[in-house]
Formats: sequence, C-alpha cells, structure tokens
Amino acid sequence: PPVYIQRYLAVSKILKSEPWKHRISKVVDFGCAELKLFKYLKQIENINHVSAVDIDEQLILRNLHEVKPLLFEHIGGFNKRLSIDLFCGSIAEPDERLIGVDAVICIELIEHLYDDVLNLVPTTVFKYLKPKLAIFTTPNADFNVLFDLKTFRHDDHKFEWTRAEFENWCMDVISKYPNYNVSFEGIGEGPEGTEHLGCCSQMAIFALKNPPLPNDLSCDRTVAQSYKLLQTIEY
Ligand code: SAM
Repeated sequence: PPVYIQRYLAVSKILKSEPWKHRISKVVDFGCAELKLFKYLKQIENINHVSAVDIDEQLILRNLHEVKPLLFEHIGGFNKRLSIDLFCGSIAEPDERLIGVDAVICIELIEHLYDDVLNLVPTTVFKYLKPKLAIFTTPNADFNVLFDLKTFRHDDHKFEWTRAEFENWCMDVISKYPNYNVSFEGIGEGPEGTEHLGCCSQMAIFALKNPPLPNDLSCDRTVAQSYKLLQTIEY
C-alpha cells in the first residue's frame, strides 16, 4: 500500500496490540485533515469515542462523508457504541472535552507547525491530556536522498527531521515528562540497499509508565473549551 495507508496501518496495529487493545477506548486524532484515519479506528474493538481535531474547519467539513455511518452500519451492522466529535482547533491549546483521552495520535502533523506552536505540543499532550499512549509520525529526512528534492517533500513543511533530530525532540519531551518512555519505528521501507537510511516516515510511541489514578485531575481545572465543536456523529 502507499505510505500514507502504511501509516494508518502502523498506528492501528499498535492500538490493536497488547496491552493497548484493552486500555484504549477514547482516541484523539490531531491534524485529522481528510478524516481518513477514522475508518481504521472505528474497526478497533474497544475504541468507542474519537475526537478529530484540525485547524482547518473547511477541510473537515468537506470530508464529512469519511466519518458518516455506512448503510450497513445504520441498520445494526455495527455492534458497539461509537461516536466521533469533529473539532476545529489547534494542538497549541488543550480543550476540556479531550480530558480523559486514552490515546493521542498525530500523523504527519508536527512538521507543519512553526516553532511557537510546536513548543506547545508536549504541553497540550503530556501536561494536560496525559494519555496512556501518544503516537507521532513525521517524515524521515535521512530518506530524502532517495527523492529529487529542492527543499522539503511538501510546501507547507516547516522542517523535516533526521532520525537523530526526531529522537532528540522526543528525548527532550521525556526529560520534561519523565512519566513517559518512548520507542521508535519506521514506516514505509525503501528499496533494497537503502536500509541504512531508515524508512520514509518515522514514528515515536510514547507510553505512560505509571498510570495515574482516575481521579488525578490535578491540572485539569484550568482547561477551557477552546475548540469549536463542528459536529458529533453517533453510530
Ligand atoms: N493526519 C493526516 C493523515 O494522516 O491523513 C495528515 C495530516 S496533514 C499532512 C497536516 C494537517 O495538520 C492539516 O490538515 C493541517 O490543517 C493540520 N494542522 C496544521 N496546524 C495545526 C494545528 N496547530 N492544530 C491542529 N491541526 C493543524
């Protein structure tokens, strides 16, 4: 499959694996763009609530068809509770309605952010939302020698990081939030003989070490409703 599909598959594989499959029912997809991840999330047994957040309201509204129940799902072919909230908002700020989320997914989002917003990503995710699991993917710049590129893979990218640069950013995150550990995986293998460059995309998987007690709401009180709820769809 194309690399963008491989990214959805890599993320779903983690969500479906031990121990996460028993522990994750609420997921946030930041930078949800065309809402294409939802098709994968809704098939995962224990997932029953998804919040999809993007700064581009029109992009979400143009892609609502991606999250509407299919005909067979309407007539009872979908045997679990499931809902999706669509929000226009920025990952620079948390929103009260996301508190309690089990997993945060950011697929190819961070490279679209200027430094001021990028610096707020760990605050939103690890200080306020405190998910059990957070997954970030971003292009692997080591792999770019395989492309004929003048600068970046996409006009809107503010940077593309080598594996070492991404690892540095992640290590910095866990030095500030030591309750998390991080591991790395590649997505989208290159042709034979390019293994030393890694994969097309790189993925960091942050896992909460000591799940806090459910009533640990220590810093949640300060979180406002900063996003605009566009629509809620119930299955
Ligand atoms: N996650 C998508 C997927 O896998 O199909 C692709 C993400 S796309 C490359 C980047 C998205 O990030 C765009 O839809 C853009 O509008 C969104 N975005 C940019 N800045 C953002 C911000 N501060 N907060 C939330 N989303 C943002």
